Amino acid sequence: MVLGAHVSTAGGLHNAIKNGTDLQCDTIQIFLRNPNQWQGKPPTSEIVEKFITAWSEADLGEVIVHDIHLSNLASPKPEVLEKSRQAFREQMELAQLLGIRYLVTHLGAHLGEGEIFGLKQLSNSFDFLFENTEAPDVMPLLETTAGQGTNLGYCFEHLRDIISMSKYPERFGVCLDTCHVFAAGYDMRTESDCEATFNQFDNIIGLERLKAFHLNDAKSEYQSRVDRHEHIGEGNIGATAFAYILNDSRFTETPFIIETPQMKTMHAVNLSTLRELKA
Ligand SMILES: [Zn+2]
Ligand SMILES: [Zn+2]
Repeated sequence: MVLGAHVSTAGGLHNAIKNGTDLQCDTIQIFLRNPNQWQGKPPTSEIVEKFITAWSEADLGEVIVHDIHLSNLASPKPEVLEKSRQAFREQMELAQLLGIRYLVTHLGAHLGEGEIFGLKQLSNSFDFLFENTEAPDVMPLLETTAGQGTNLGYCFEHLRDIISMSKYPERFGVCLDTCHVFAAGYDMRTESDCEATFNQFDNIIGLERLKAFHLNDAKSEYQSRVDRHEHIGEGNIGATAFAYILNDSRFTETPFIIETPQMKTMHAVNLSTLRELKA
């Protein structure tokens, strides 16, 4: 299995590589900039070099980027839409420069304009980005969401529709977050629930699109549409789902990333819980 965690880049992007290898990660996820600010200071060429060297010397596979939290590529507000696209474009181009191929993003919110409007807006945003960004090897991964407020992406059909409305369907992948899909109403508490959920995913989106997992247990309730992560095995999803995913032969090469709370102190614990669930 390919198991890892979202890790800090404090002190420079290259530090993420050490943070990952210290935890014996096979893969990591990072932010390329402060996720709570629109403006990102691009890394110096020295930092870029350090990152590329550190990664090439480390025993570490995929590095995945997560988009900033402010992003809303579905926004009906022109100013927010423009800022979201600009930030996404900069992150795509930096990912390309760093040799990173996956950029995970939440789908944003329609803010009352309706789901059909929001999905079309998203599809248009990605087409704009594919046509105006020099990042041919970077694949955006649409992340399943819990569906708080008017957030899109709480059902598999939303992801399918964005991809099918795009002029460039081959450029998309999907990231499945266990906490989010559970809160959105896809049960995973028993093996047969997992089977049903992945069958639905396969029928609606296609498992070949599934390029990464976020493995998070849920503090939120089933169908609550609330996004609150919990330590593995301690939330409302429970260990069965994680054992199912980790041992499913369809996912042996798919990166598994934890985004569980208290990363400094608890990542090692959550990773070891997952390693024990691997048969
Ligand atoms: Zn996630
Ligand atoms: Zn979440």
